[in-house]
Amino acid sequence: MKQTSSYGDPARFVTHLHVAKDCLDLPYTQEIMARANLPVTVIGERGVPEIDGDYPYNLSTGKRHLLLCRNRGVFFKPCPGTREYRCCDYQVLNIGMNCPMDCVYCILQAYLNNPWLSFFVNVEDLFGELDLALDAEPERFFRIGTGEFTDSLALDTLTHLSPRLVNFMAQRSNAVLELKSKSVNIANLEGLDHRGRTIVAWSLNSPPIMAREEIRTATLEERLQAAARCAGWGYKLAFHFDPIILHQGWQEGYRQTIGRLFAEIPAESIAWISMGALRYLPSLKKIAVERFPASRFFYQEFIDGLDGKRRYFRPQRVAMYRFIHDELRKHADPRTCIYFCMENDTIWQEVFGFVPEERGGLPAMLDRSLGWPR
Ligand code: SF4
Repeated sequence: MKQTSSYGDPARFVTHLHVAKDCLDLPYTQEIMARANLPVTVIGERGVPEIDGDYPYNLSTGKRHLLLCRNRGVFFKPCPGTREYRCCDYQVLNIGMNCPMDCVYCILQAYLNNPWLSFFVNVEDLFGELDLALDAEPERFFRIGTGEFTDSLALDTLTHLSPRLVNFMAQRSNAVLELKSKSVNIANLEGLDHRGRTIVAWSLNSPPIMAREEIRTATLEERLQAAARCAGWGYKLAFHFDPIILHQGWQEGYRQTIGRLFAEIPAESIAWISMGALRYLPSLKKIAVERFPASRFFYQEFIDGLDGKRRYFRPQRVAMYRFIHDELRKHADPRTCIYFCMENDTIWQEVFGFVPEERGGLPAMLDRSLGWPR
């Protein structure tokens, strides 16, 4: 199935701004309000946007509402990997919560308990925290991502956060930032002196999954064209086949996507490619099947993993990974690191023929793909 129609910029889905009173006078808040040109409600201390209905069933309406507020917690912390599965030692930079797109499998539906989108406008605190953390360990190499609790670029036409981040990262020698998206909001990345410190990444999937299960996201062709433009601006790229979902014609679907990827993108511009089969908290199934009754993939057979998430049975995961890995290896540059997000050593051995420890561990493998240590 080809995804032909495009929603365009997902930030268009936002129809109402809410602004925390203590942020109203910040220049950044004023800048976003002027750019958005949307109705604004000012929220007093401890107030929240009022959205009709109960969570999570009011998510479809809630995603139209964007709250500009302060992050009162920490901006920067390690990705919550688990002991049982190999994790890549990623650092999460928390720029906001929730996303205007709506993927059926989105874990945020089960993680969050507010239906609206939040964006943190106290960015001076964010950069202050980053400075402290990176200065404290100059010998360490940090891989940082903003796409853990939101999409990195989905609101960028409103916030213009990406050039601030890219310019900040360009000054740092011991870190890279990965901006991960399913949108093609890349206009703000053009013409920046990024110095190779920002990687632009897209999640990819089989065409029928992208068309049916990823609402308001960019089409495959749009994502690849945007990636090719970023490569032309000198950015390194990354791609994430995640979540890999079993569906009729899955081999053909993933083969098609991989063929299109390497037809559009110079292989040497890709730093890394990850693979992760569908995994989910049991509570997500109830939410997703009620919000998206036409989706069928949650009714397949799964096993409970050691981290409390459901996964396909091991032989099924291995079959899917082997197929996709073989297709990727036909085209990929030998320096591109192809890896698993959250899989165990048995799967690494069965699919890749080695475990990360033999190559210094997954974090070191990813760092090497960027030429670190120098
Ligand atoms: S793009 Fe990412 S964050 Fe947004 S709904 Fe889809 S999975 Fe969730």
